[in-house]
Amino acid sequence: MHVAMIGAGYVGLVSGACFAEFGIDVSVVDKDPAKITALKQGRIPIFEPGLDELVKSNAAEGRLHFTTDTAKAVNRADAVFIAVGTPSRRGDGHADLTYVFEAVREVCAALTGPTVLVTKSTVPVGTGRKVAALAREVRPELDIAVASNPEFLREGSAIGDFMRPDRVVIGTDSERAQAVLKRLYRPLYLIETPIVFTGLETAELIKYAANAFLATKITFINEVADLCEKVGADVHDVARGIGLDGRIGRKFLHAGPGFGGSCFPKDTLALVRTAQDAGTPVRIVETVVSVNDARKAAMAERVIAACGGSVAGKTIAVLGLTFKPETDDMRDAPSLAIVPRLVEAGAVVRAYDPEGMAQAKPLLPAEVVYCRDAYDAAEGADALVVITEWNVFRAIPPDRLAGVMTGRVVVDLRNIFDPAAMREAGFAYSSIGRA
Ligand code: NAD
Repeated sequence: MHVAMIGAGYVGLVSGACFAEFGIDVSVVDKDPAKITALKQGRIPIFEPGLDELVKSNAAEGRLHFTTDTAKAVNRADAVFIAVGTPSRRGDGHADLTYVFEAVREVCAALTGPTVLVTKSTVPVGTGRKVAALAREVRPELDIAVASNPEFLREGSAIGDFMRPDRVVIGTDSERAQAVLKRLYRPLYLIETPIVFTGLETAELIKYAANAFLATKITFINEVADLCEKVGADVHDVARGIGLDGRIGRKFLHAGPGFGGSCFPKDTLALVRTAQDAGTPVRIVETVVSVNDARKAAMAERVIAACGGSVAGKTIAVLGLTFKPETDDMRDAPSLAIVPRLVEAGAVVRAYDPEGMAQAKPLLPAEVVYCRDAYDAAEGADALVVITEWNVFRAIPPDRLAGVMTGRVVVDLRNIFDPAAMREAGFAYSSIGRA
């Protein structure tokens, strides 16, 4: 079988490489020539564990191709996947579908025969019908079946998530599309992955409802964490105590600085807008959006308070910039709300992130100093803030930190350190949801 993947980003590149690993011939298209040149030379434009080897081996086997030429990629494709970005539209928070419709137009114009057009990008309810109408408009003579196949992979564990997902969702009215997608996902069917066959609208909504639910879970535990701090409780034990209840589950109950990333912020907002337009507001999700925005902003104030009410002229070490570990993705990362505020308040910020510094530089104030490692960042610092819980930070011995820092303030927004050990090393240590 042949597949064309439009978009070589976090989703397109991982999905394309994984389909190739299933034995399918895959052409990945991106309109960014620098990305395609890099990929052709075996350089991976993003950081995702395991992706390097997967891309190289499948390219070497001749199953994975990269091109900027949509026509070349789609002309033999049994299915064409749209995996382009759907960012928040400036001003109103609706999903910006410009890239999706542009890609659909380009694909349809280039087709030489019937195919199945599959939306993998996260798109609001109703987009699939619009894609079908656009396909009919551009190529009325061709039989182009349309399907929605939302992607649930997580950056940092994307390959495992694609290869062993909790479920695959396929939304379509077309038997042909369903048959093609069944064949493509056969390796997952063989390992008994649940496959949810449904309509277009339902598949589109499943993706938004899933992300909104997970974002709600995070926001819930964050507010419980604030309460824990006030009443002398420990949010870890609360999360464990409720998470062991099978109806609740332990995942997504880690209190922190608020969710960020390429999906939750824009998808919660887009769902809010869709629901408002439909006249059925999702008020819980509206609250999640505003609570989370306020939380990210409040984290800088927490640091300032821990420094005695002012950071002017103080040196603050920042560990972690990406929105989560094991990715270089900076989209909507909490650091983007925290670091500029600290700089604005007069702090000298010395930052270190294992993978995200190149992506962070254009997004953060020019005054930020980028460091070689955690100890370099902590050198001479009055205070240290943990924003992203990279594993390399977890093992930092408190006394070694004390040896390089000038001050004794640590604000751990991810609860990676042991409070007793930090206090023993002489730190004024604060974390999230632990009194
Ligand atoms: P991305 O920004 O990393 O990648 C999108 C790529 O598409 C870019 O490289 C861009 O150059 C390319 N592109 C845009 N228009 C094109 C066109 N007409 N032809 C060829 N290439 C084109 O985005 P992403 O993070 O991979 O997300 C893609 C979609 O998947 C979004 O809708 C997102 O919400 C969804 N999604 C993302 C994740 C995630 O973890 N990143 C997870 C699940 C779903």
